[in-house]
Amino acid sequence: MKLYPLFADLNGLPVLVVGGGTVAERKIAALLAAGAQVRVGARTLCSALAEWVAQGRIDHLGTSFQPEWLDDVWLVIAATDDSDLNARVAAMAQRQRIFANVVDDAALSRFQVPAVVERTPLTIAISTAGAAPALARRIREKLESMLDHALGELVALAQRYRARIIERRPDLAARRAFYDGLLDGPVMSALRCRQPERAERLLLDTLASAETAPRKASVLLVGAGPGDPSLLTLRALRALNQADVILHDQLVSDAVLALARRDAERIDVGKRCGGRHTQQEQIHRLLLEHARAGRCVVRLKGGDPFVFGRGGEEMEFLQRHGIVCEIVPGMTSAVACAAYAGIPLTHRDYARSVHLLTGHGKESPDAMDWPVLAQDHQTLAVYMSVSRLDELARHLLAAGRRADTPFAIVENGTLPQQRVISGALSDLPTSAARHAVRSPALLIVGEVAALANRHAWFGEQTRPVHQVDECVLPELCADG
Ligand code: SAH
Repeated sequence: MKLYPLFADLNGLPVLVVGGGTVAERKIAALLAAGAQVRVGARTLCSALAEWVAQGRIDHLGTSFQPEWLDDVWLVIAATDDSDLNARVAAMAQRQRIFANVVDDAALSRFQVPAVVERTPLTIAISTAGAAPALARRIREKLESMLDHALGELVALAQRYRARIIERRPDLAARRAFYDGLLDGPVMSALRCRQPERAERLLLDTLASAETAPRKASVLLVGAGPGDPSLLTLRALRALNQADVILHDQLVSDAVLALARRDAERIDVGKRCGGRHTQQEQIHRLLLEHARAGRCVVRLKGGDPFVFGRGGEEMEFLQRHGIVCEIVPGMTSAVACAAYAGIPLTHRDYARSVHLLTGHGKESPDAMDWPVLAQDHQTLAVYMSVSRLDELARHLLAAGRRADTPFAIVENGTLPQQRVISGALSDLPTSAARHAVRSPALLIVGEVAALANRHAWFGEQTRPVHQVDECVLPELCADG
């Protein structure tokens, strides 16, 4: 069966729905959203429909079907659980040349209700001509995740200036280029940043100029999460689909990179920019070069770009050079590694706070406030600590943290090869050496780390490699 696709303007038109259950309710909700004047006929009404009748939003025609119900309606939907009645309604509608839909019965239906993705005023409708509605729903889900929610605003903006766009870009090819630029460039970016006025200004400035499309010079700083690709945000996935060029760190997993647009240029700036000191400057230079060339640049970083990721410096640099930055937060490894090791970072029985620290800051560890960090009933999540475990344990113990304070090291967190090594603080360096812990690894110190033993759930190794001797965890007082 081949269907003719059609978008109907039902605003103010009477439409009949026969049936009063939850299926009818869903159909009616969509009809009301399109401005139709809904009349319902049904023996019983579900509570939502009864309420809508009481509110005067829909009319209840009666309980047993009457052929007059079809008089002067434009469409009819039969959604009862009585197949004979559904067939009768369809046959009568056919005689009166009214389009009818029988829910879940393609053969009896003269029109079908597609699965839709709404980015009002943009509507995307999907139909399998009744062959496999479940598949249409899956395709709808995919489109939902791909398409930004600001897309509707872009369409509305284009609608508002349609006449002017046609006037200023009379040539069809030039007009197409202009619309391409709207979708891929700074106007859409401004809408995503919830800056409608800036978006409008950009559109108008470009229209007034001789440029074919709004010039892009923007970079998306995107957090790729800790490694498991399913921890990417929808926004990050969309950015990967949109990117012309991706500058990524070595830590970004292959599985995440595999989700990017196939023809996007991928640059491993971890490798390419080798030497420690020149590295950041080279990254800045590359970002600027690609952004100025008008490419859609995604700077992809492990975890979150603003948590020990130097995202702040990159943003400052780009803004200084007049490049607009969008930031897409990612799941930082402290949060993800703790979760994948079964450690609730702030379990209310054991921890009042959580501190995110780095073992490799600008300053030496001597400058840190160890007496504060060594207080009990708090959790430390230490990034980049593998080569400094000895020093860290020494400082914490010297500042008074108990020797039996639990720790857990999560190596390759969220990846198939994740390992969790746990023990007591006094054994931290020896234990890590014995198990040859390698970067990337996240160190968690604090009472909650012992919970890794109880709640391990991810990976083959569901017990930590080295267990804490069942230490008794002092619980926090309720008022503490
Ligand atoms: N911006 C990142 C951190 C970058 S610093 C974030 O928000 O997570 C790099 C450090 O992150 C590593 O040394 C390690 O401590 C931690 N890390 C990143 N990915 C990790 C992973 N999959 N497992 C364990 N630690 C990880």
